[in-house]
Amino acid sequence: MPPTILRAAAAWTARDGAVVAPAELHVEDRRIAWIGRQGERPAPEGAAVIDLGGLWLVPGFVDAHLHLWGLDHAEPSALWNWPMAYRTARAAAELRALLDGGITAVRCCGGPLGPSLARAVREGALPGPHIVAAGDFVCSRAGTWDQALWPLEWVERLGILADGPEEIRRRVRERLRQGADFLKVGGSVGEHSDALRPWGNDPARLRLAWSDEELRAAVEEAHRNHLPVATHAIGEEAVRQALDAGVDSIEHGHGIGEETARRMADLGTWLVPTLSLPALRAAGAPPAIAMGWRRHREVQRRSIEVALRHGVRIAAGTDFVGPPITPLGPDAMEMEWLVEAGMPAEQALLAGTAHGAAAIGLGARTGALAAGLEADILGLPGDPRRDISLVRRVAFVMRGGAVWRGVPAAG
Ligand SMILES: [Zn+2]
Repeated sequence: MPPTILRAAAAWTARDGAVVAPAELHVEDRRIAWIGRQGERPAPEGAAVIDLGGLWLVPGFVDAHLHLWGLDHAEPSALWNWPMAYRTARAAAELRALLDGGITAVRCCGGPLGPSLARAVREGALPGPHIVAAGDFVCSRAGTWDQALWPLEWVERLGILADGPEEIRRRVRERLRQGADFLKVGGSVGEHSDALRPWGNDPARLRLAWSDEELRAAVEEAHRNHLPVATHAIGEEAVRQALDAGVDSIEHGHGIGEETARRMADLGTWLVPTLSLPALRAAGAPPAIAMGWRRHREVQRRSIEVALRHGVRIAAGTDFVGPPITPLGPDAMEMEWLVEAGMPAEQALLAGTAHGAAAIGLGARTGALAAGLEADILGLPGDPRRDISLVRRVAFVMRGGAVWRGVPAAG
């Protein structure tokens, strides 16, 4: 690829809040070679110039928590009956939709397709964001993703259940064979639609999935194999147990108290609050279930406040799982929900770029506009610090130095 030069009205770099205007960015060999003010540096020999006019350049967005399942959740039998090949083809379309929405890096927090999709994208067989993948979930029987209303044999077939340190270690090793980049475990149990456990509606009354010993075994086995651990943990008790066990990120994480938030900040544990899915579910569910989602949302808002006050490190993640309620693509909305929950706009933008990349282990490769990083670059029609809703009006997308969409017509 010949060198490419991007010119735009300004660039928000995600580095020390630095804004460059008018901005020029040189891309060579898939990477950002230089960023500065227009005219400060001569154009490299043979470079193609793309003039983006009034657009603002920002780093490609990160969704630190989603699920690449290739499913349609309006079809209840899909999880059991849809062939993996069909689901993979659908997931490939989801990857394109994510790029369209400006999402250039994602972490798949549980699901069988993630590691293979990650490999295909890495090898250039599929267009898509960087993918950091957990492979399948691991949780206890009667735990986070065990569906108690389905026959146990059905759930066993998914290969996600593990009880006792020995079986848990075996599952971790299965994830290694699967090609997982990290381990995703279920720390707390409670479902909004669960007829057997109606208290799942109350984020303060969820129960722990594993004993302390079991969770410690999962973390120890994962860390020994260089896999970070992400834990689904809602409520004070589950988050505290996860911190005691040494997990690397807390997923959801609402319902925590001051002391636990302070500890998370001290330990540097990442929090991925996942505000988008509950917001859309609360709007789209039957009344009885929507009530539970609304209750979780109220607690989420209070918890973000506590986390911000203590300086907990926060990354943006949607928890989107696919259609009909949470199709992948508009994932940048998580930054809007973070602002709505009280986060300053610039901090929300960092959560969806540099901090998101750091949280999923890609901080040295993407998430900022800086020389040496991969050229994952977006163009927005204005300054997103002034109007956060611009994150959903992505007009230009470059992924790894290749234009994905939005080059203005020549002339
Ligand atoms: Zn999730």
